[in-house]
Amino acid sequence: MTQNLPLKIYNSLTRKKEVFKPQNPDRVTMYNCGPTVYSYAHIGNARAAVVADILFRLLREIYGDSSVVYARNITDVDDKIIKRAKEDNVEIHEITEKFADIYNKDLAAIGCLRPTEQPKCTEYIDSMVKMISLLISKKFAYMSDNHVFFDVSRFEDYGNLSGNNLEDLITGARLEEGETSRKRNNADFVLWKPELDGVGWNSPFGKGRPGWHIECSAMAQDVLNSEGYTIDIHCGGIDLKFPHHENEIAQSVCAHDGAPLANYWVHNEFLNMGDEKMSKSIGNVQLINDLLDDWDGEVIRLSLIKAHYKSELVWTKQLLQESKQNLDRWYRVLKRLSSIDFQFQKETRETLSLAPDFDKIINCLKSDLNTVGAISELESLFDNLNVLLNEADKYDNGDFPISLIKKVSEVKNALEGVSSLLGILVSDPFKWFKRKVSDDDESLFDALAHRREMARKSKDWKSADEARDEARAHGVILEDNASGTTWRMV
Ligand code: AMP
Ligand code: ZN
Repeated sequence: MTQNLPLKIYNSLTRKKEVFKPQNPDRVTMYNCGPTVYSYAHIGNARAAVVADILFRLLREIYGDSSVVYARNITDVDDKIIKRAKEDNVEIHEITEKFADIYNKDLAAIGCLRPTEQPKCTEYIDSMVKMISLLISKKFAYMSDNHVFFDVSRFEDYGNLSGNNLEDLITGARLEEGETSRKRNNADFVLWKPELDGVGWNSPFGKGRPGWHIECSAMAQDVLNSEGYTIDIHCGGIDLKFPHHENEIAQSVCAHDGAPLANYWVHNEFLNMGDEKMSKSIGNVQLINDLLDDWDGEVIRLSLIKAHYKSELVWTKQLLQESKQNLDRWYRVLKRLSSIDFQFQKETRETLSLAPDFDKIINCLKSDLNTVGAISELESLFDNLNVLLNEADKYDNGDFPISLIKKVSEVKNALEGVSSLLGILVSDPFKWFKRKVSDDDESLFDALAHRREMARKSKDWKSADEARDEARAHGVILEDNASGTTWRMV
């Protein structure tokens, strides 16, 4: 039996790989900065969501499903949203509700579990106002020209997360037009701004709207912290480290008398097109929604976890094609497995542990989410399963030795654990090969498979060959196996 290892994650704050110790193992908390919902999410955004999802699944496996609280917010107020609503002449909520819904559906299609909590900014304005008032009363923030700013010179740890030097930041930050007269230090950032195009909420600092950073500080506190101020894990893409996460830390720590915002910070690297980051501003984006027209969600997900989250991932069609080939191979083996009636004994399955194969894979993930290692272990697991199925072929009367049934059963159990950990291999293996086929085509291919099966039974080889050739002309392969003839797309 492989040794069961503790979970270790690379903490961006300490710049070290550390053993993860939750404050309360019955309530492990994680927060991930969510989307600003005014258009479709791209596959770079999906990478951040999938990395957090793998961590969420792993924590649930270790601490139990109901012991992990994962919050990912929806930013539903923002200048870009207000601008878009004005251009389209619609209410803001019409845009945000539409794109929040699309975002959730896109992520579900690539196997991401729903976070436990999905707070919307507009529903937490009171908490933001409260936190800003607290920061003003403690003199960490000041009002100026209908704005409220955070005074970075009052927080000596400012820059610790990103490795920036406070002095340099104070003198070096670039100012936007009009800001010079409003701010005390160049690096001060906004907590509250005046209303824009009639969008604003009443507050002690005038009618206005929150700055981006305060949203996450307030929601993480409100949604995740039933007791105390510190959450266990905060995640997000590397581009958010500075200034967004640095500013979240400054606000929360200063509002909460020095209590850390999060004990562990997990940042994923970029997904790139060529050697450039995929981003809306560069204009090199591929939308999740568009990719799903051509690729199964599992193919997209496998492609996203084929690089370690701390390495850059170059997004190519070849990557998707290779992932499709991997999944096709694995599903072929699974199809073979389910077409053999091993008559697994209920007692046998229940008395079995999840098996060493499962331990090997979960241990890879426990080592700083090593998905690359986990996939390579999964490959070996399928190789082993293939060997066992070849062995099973020797017993055509189904009278398998109990030792073989036990081994296959162990692998089957391990696979169930692995698919719920990685969020892949969750489809029915027979349906996998019939994806994106119209109902009419499905009936035709079923009929061709049936024709070949009957022809083979009556040793009518000519008719059997004709059925196979006709299927092939449609891009379909007929496969003969112990339980009859089935079909799959090439
Ligand atoms: P945004 O909507 O730009 O705030 O991004 C949402 C999430 O996606 C954040 O965690 C970003 O850091 C992350 N993200 C954006 N672009 C990329 C990219 N090209 N690669 C990886 N993560 C990204
Ligand atoms: Zn955030």
